[in-house]
Amino acid sequence: MTERPDAPRPQRICKSLNGAEALSDPEKLRAELISGLPGGGLNIAYEAVDRHVTQGQGGATAIRWLGKGGERRELSYCDLADRSSRFAAVLHSHGLGKGDRVFCLMDRTPDLFAAALGTLRAGMVFTPLFSAFGPDPIRTRMEIGEANVLVTTASLYRRKIAPWRQQIPSLKLVLIEGDDAPEDCVALSPALDAANGGGEICRTGPEDTALIHFTSGTTGKPKGVIHVHKAVESHAVTGRVALDLQPGTVFWCTADPGWVTGTSYGILAPLVHRATLVVDEAEFDLDLWYNTLVREKVEVWYTAPTAIRMMMRAGEAAAKPYDFSRLRFLASVGEPLNPEAVVWSDRVFGRPFHDNWWQTETGGIMIANTRTMDIKPGSMGKPLPGIEAGVVERQDDGVRELKPGEVGELALRPGWPSMMRGYLHEEERYRKAFAGGWYLSGDLAMRDDEGYYWFVGRADDLIKSSGHLIGPFEVESALIEHPAVAEAAVIGLPDETAGEVVKAYVTLNHGYAPGEALEHDIRGHARKRLGPAVAPREITFRTSLPKTRSGKIMRRLLKARELGLPEGDISTLERDER
Ligand code: ATP
Ligand code: MG
Repeated sequence: MTERPDAPRPQRICKSLNGAEALSDPEKLRAELISGLPGGGLNIAYEAVDRHVTQGQGGATAIRWLGKGGERRELSYCDLADRSSRFAAVLHSHGLGKGDRVFCLMDRTPDLFAAALGTLRAGMVFTPLFSAFGPDPIRTRMEIGEANVLVTTASLYRRKIAPWRQQIPSLKLVLIEGDDAPEDCVALSPALDAANGGGEICRTGPEDTALIHFTSGTTGKPKGVIHVHKAVESHAVTGRVALDLQPGTVFWCTADPGWVTGTSYGILAPLVHRATLVVDEAEFDLDLWYNTLVREKVEVWYTAPTAIRMMMRAGEAAAKPYDFSRLRFLASVGEPLNPEAVVWSDRVFGRPFHDNWWQTETGGIMIANTRTMDIKPGSMGKPLPGIEAGVVERQDDGVRELKPGEVGELALRPGWPSMMRGYLHEEERYRKAFAGGWYLSGDLAMRDDEGYYWFVGRADDLIKSSGHLIGPFEVESALIEHPAVAEAAVIGLPDETAGEVVKAYVTLNHGYAPGEALEHDIRGHARKRLGPAVAPREITFRTSLPKTRSGKIMRRLLKARELGLPEGDISTLERDER
């Protein structure tokens, strides 16, 4: 690939935290944080919960749950050990055992945590799904994953599962949250109350399967990604290095476990660190979220660009009444974080968002702006200690490594603990993800002279226009700098002379109305920022952009619609007002 046409001229934010201990030795951190099962073996649930109890720290608060209706419940590590061991006992009492697969379709209630950790504790395999999924996406995933158990609610069961339950032959048990269950199902609360807690933890080994996680489906049909118990070593190390989790840290991860972030960092990593996990069941609501940050005295906050852009859209004034001084570290993942958002958050929260990059496949954070380095707004940061990254170009007989400044595919040297062990039933696809000793991520990036990585776009989304390679992220970030633009999505459309031309879809900030004059003005701004070859030829105003449930813009869907092509797999699409 060619030189990046318009290399970034970043400004820096130098706010690295003082007194940071050496975080460069992942082996030392792993040894400090992960003990293994007494007597041998490795089980994520032990590292996340029971280890703290064994070490006399069971009284610490593990979960502070904030229910949708204003309810509030706290669970200590002892409570969580008790609930999860009872959950494991319930599974055993139904004849289930090691390797059986437990799917969860429910909101982020305390039962979800008992189910996740109880499943792992029993040596079974945990798969969370978004409760907002429709019946088809749920069914397909349960079929692909050969689900043996489903944990859900009565209402979700009746609406989404009951009509086809009998057609999933592997499904042996349906557990229903609460006291009452429809016929053929088992009510969870009385079963937990009757079960004996404190049973033995299954002696799993590091390579035993622990989790199957489905990807977001941004680029096509979601893949079932296999992760093993050893992954907890990555959760431990990255939780400290990339998110600054310490014992007692009040940590809020806004992601649902239906998205891998909500499992690796919404359940496992913070518990391994004996942090206190704030769990807010509610979806994004500006005042509610600001209130949660302040009232719960959140210290470390992990969220996604889509939420950050919604906060920006509401404006700085909306944040003024709140005192955010307890926040010490802010991190973002899932989509490129526009430089504008980093600078904005530094102003509003007194701390910049630290972007980091990873995938369902990598199981944990790979590249990050850590607390000990300067931030270059717009950059994903640097590979974490123990992670070797590169920018490569695929060739017939392997790959060629590219130099700093060149754009290519972001690649990683396999071998870290939370690397996927396979795509479920997709051997060939899995094999194709590796070449020349690298794992190829499918994302395009550029590394600068100082080793910082810059996201360019997904390989599928790259635009080729008049000899230029254009990453949508760069164009979208420039558009967002315009005061009227809240969010932007950019695609390439076929063009006879240029090959492709850039088309943008934008949503507007409050107080701006779509119109020709505004379009003209935004185009002018983009041309000035990017040059005429890269700036969008056409801009369409929309009230929202199509996104996955994990908050990722589905550019391929915009393109398919524009070209009148089939929409492809849209099982993860959130509501979409055009
Ligand atoms: P699918 O693989 O099914 O198309 P997906 O790739 O969106 O879906 P995830 O594993 O949830 O599924 O997301 C990982 C992807 O999200 C990355 O490959 C990358 O494209 C994007 N991503 C994650 N973090 C960042 C980041 N900090 N900056 C830019 N992109 C990011
Ligand atoms: Mg992907």
